[in-house]
Amino acid sequence: MTGIDDLPIRDELRGKSPYGAPQLDVPVRLNTNENPYPLPESLVARIAERVAEAARRLNRYPDRDAIELRTELAAYLTRTAGHHVTTAQVWAANGSNEIIQQLLQTFGGPGRTAIGFEPSYSMHALISRGTGTGWLAGPRRADFTIDVDAALAAIAEHRPDVVFVCSPNNPTGTAVDADTVLRLYDAAQAARADTAGALVVVDEAYGEFSHRPSLLPLIEGRANLVVSRTMSKAFGAAGLRLGYLAAHPAVVDAVQLVRLPYHLSSVTQATALAALEHTDTLLTYVEQLKGERDRIVTELRAMGCEVTDSDANFVQFGRFDDSHAAWQAILDQGVLVRDNGVPGWLRVTAGTPAENDAFLDAVRALIKETN
Ligand code: PMP
Repeated sequence: MTGIDDLPIRDELRGKSPYGAPQLDVPVRLNTNENPYPLPESLVARIAERVAEAARRLNRYPDRDAIELRTELAAYLTRTAGHHVTTAQVWAANGSNEIIQQLLQTFGGPGRTAIGFEPSYSMHALISRGTGTGWLAGPRRADFTIDVDAALAAIAEHRPDVVFVCSPNNPTGTAVDADTVLRLYDAAQAARADTAGALVVVDEAYGEFSHRPSLLPLIEGRANLVVSRTMSKAFGAAGLRLGYLAAHPAVVDAVQLVRLPYHLSSVTQATALAALEHTDTLLTYVEQLKGERDRIVTELRAMGCEVTDSDANFVQFGRFDDSHAAWQAILDQGVLVRDNGVPGWLRVTAGTPAENDAFLDAVRALIKETN
């Protein structure tokens, strides 16, 4: 039988595993930070209308520059993220994963390096590898905040071309303050002062769930700072595959060098535009989820669990001597959470109140069993 390693694949891909959160058919799925609420029927109807309109023109390629969509995304950010953003400052792609890939294709690549502060979103490292960008794992403190002094030292030593700051951070839920981002940004520029500097990517996939304001205003006057966002979480549209970035217009021009022509289908653009028309309703679900997230933190702590402060739609909890066994015990009760490989810790996504109750009951039973 021919296996991957018998093929002439790139050496750096040999022996590696693909991204693979389990997609198991269990009653309560709280493992991939999805929004538990299906889109409201009025929005489903509006999507059908807009997609029908787009279907009538499917013989033509989509708007390659996605102008209408970028304009609406800019309006959304201007309204919600505390900073005026123009169409020229926004770019959209198939999920923020594709945004990250385009950024690494443009600003990383062979002979270049990217740094992230782990544990963090594993795709930053994986997409780096996929684009031939070297990966550096920077440190966090025991409480999962970024160890700023150690981070500044790592940046000065390794002079990375790309710096990832995930806020709120997946899988820990930890938000990063503006001052930390600015210190990392300044250090990254100083370390590469002999070049045009380094790109700092603030991954705000969970930005809408934070107790803190968005870091988006920091792009003002900083051409090497990018904020990436997604409609997968707050807009409850993970199946849509729509991510976007806000940055200096020159960054948007730069990613045009690597984006595939017509990468964003007419159907995707039409669906995303329909969802943006329903922003207010969708943001009420975000408010409910924030409340549920805070309830999960409070109830887990009351049970005696250790819980990392969370600004996202998920909660990191522990600590377990054997986190994989704990993951399995919770799964045996019909609740799928995530084992991200952070020793001692698991992650649960905030679901509906009933799903969260099922999860909390499962943990309660697990603790009772092990005591
Ligand atoms: N960034 C972070 C921090 C994430 O957790 C995720 C999804 N889990 C993404 C980006 C990618 O999301 P999408 O491609 O669905 O926009």
